[in-house]
Amino acid sequence: MHTHTTCSDGTMTPFELINEAKKIGLQGLSITDHDGVSAYTDELFDYARANGIQLMTGVEFSCRFEEMSIHILGYHFDHLNEAIQDLCKRHVIRRQERNLLILERLRGRGIRIEPEELKQKAAGVIGRPHIAKIMVEKGAVGSIQEAFEEYIGDNKPCYVPGASFFIPETIDMIHQAGGKALIAHPHLIRNKSVVKKLIQLPFDGIEAYYARFPLDQEREWLEIAEKKGWLISGGSDFHGTIKPHNPLGSSWIGLEEFKKL
Ligand code: AMP
Ligand code: ZN
Ligand code: FE
Ligand code: FE
Repeated sequence: MHTHTTCSDGTMTPFELINEAKKIGLQGLSITDHDGVSAYTDELFDYARANGIQLMTGVEFSCRFEEMSIHILGYHFDHLNEAIQDLCKRHVIRRQERNLLILERLRGRGIRIEPEELKQKAAGVIGRPHIAKIMVEKGAVGSIQEAFEEYIGDNKPCYVPGASFFIPETIDMIHQAGGKALIAHPHLIRNKSVVKKLIQLPFDGIEAYYARFPLDQEREWLEIAEKKGWLISGGSDFHGTIKPHNPLGSSWIGLEEFKKL
C-alpha cells in the first residue's frame, strides 16, 4: 500500500513492481509515488489484472505543516481527475525550483551537479534521492544516508523545501477525485503536539503499519483510528535498491482493510 517506482524515486518500474508483488504473494498493491500518478496507465491496470494483483490508485503528496514536511497518502481516487492532475503539475514546478536551489547550495560546498545531470538521472518526479545518488557516484559522500545526514536531509544545510502546499487543500483535492486521504507514517513524527493537531484535520485514515516498525509502536496509531472511526493502511514504503532495508511486504494490510479503503 506504500510503494515507489521509477515514476518518482523508486528503482523498479511499475511493471517490475507488479512482478515483485506477485512473486512475494501479495493479492493487492498500491503505487504511491511522490506527488505524481503517472504510473497509472491502462497498460498497468491490464498487467496487474493479468497477474492476479488488485491495483488500487495511490499517491504520496508532500505538504508543509508547522515548519515540518508531512506526507499525505491518497487512495482509490480517479487518477485522471483534473484536481489531482493539476496538483501534480504544481508539484513538478515546486520541485524544479527547489531542486535548483538545492544544487546551488551544494555548489556552495564544493559539490557540483549540473541540472542536466539531475534531469537525466530520473524518469519521472525528481527528488532528493536522485541528488543523493549522484553525490555518491561523484564520491562527494560515501552513501545515500550520508548525503541526507550531512547535506540534504530535512533541515540540513543544503535542504530547501520549496513552495508550501498545505494539508487541507491536498485533502480536498483527493476528496474531489473521489479518494481517501490518510496521514502517512506518523511513526516518523517525533513532535507529539504536531500529531495532536494533525489528527484534528479532516483525514479519512492513518497509516498504522509502516515499514519495519514493531507492533508496540503501531498500537498508538491503531487506537487513534479506532477512536476516530478512521480507515487504516500499512505498507513498506518500498523504493527498491535505493532503500534496500525496506523490502516489499515488510508492512501490509489484509484484504478486509484493503476493501474498506
Ligand atoms: P523529496 O520528496 O525530494 O523531498 O525526498 C523525500 C524522499 O527522500 C523520501 O521519501 C525518502 O525516500 C528520501 N529520504 C528522506 N530522508 C531520508 C534519509 N534521512 N535517508 C534516506 N532517504 C531519505
Ligand atoms: Zn521516496
Ligand atoms: Fe513519505
Ligand atoms: Fe513513501
